Amino acid sequence: MTDKEFDSTISRVRKIINRWITPCGLRTWQNVDFQYHRNMAEMADSSNQMLSEKERNVAGRAVVDWDYRRATIHLNMDILSRSTDEDVDYIIRHEICHLLVNEMREWSMYEKDVTSCIQHEERVVTDLAMVLGWVRMAGRRDPRPKKK
Ligand SMILES: [Zn+2]
Repeated sequence: MTDKEFDSTISRVRKIINRWITPCGLRTWQNVDFQYHRNMAEMADSSNQMLSEKERNVAGRAVVDWDYRRATIHLNMDILSRSTDEDVDYIIRHEICHLLVNEMREWSMYEKDVTSCIQHEERVVTDLAMVLGWVRMAGRRDPRPKKK
């Protein structure tokens, strides 16, 4: 990816991020940082996480301190540069939803199989991200409540 492609992808992704910051309540958080990485290797180094085989080459990763309402969303620009705006929009919604439910991960400490807990979180986050998209579309079709 050239510098120009990297910069133009960041610009495109930022517009989509800005669409979701306020409706998802992220302005009430102490800090939410978005970091843009050229590829998965750079993202893995920066997010300081061990990657399982399954997690390799993901589009995004949220690192969350839910108790202090701080988070960093790491984004893999290699994938996002080849994704449609619609797909990027879903990926951003998905990662933001990880912030919103991250506290529930605390229950995983009582489970033997932590991987199973993450799978539950992924399913919930996937549904919530889709719901956000559907609500946005519904708001466009019918932006104001009808007066009786
Ligand atoms: Zn996820």
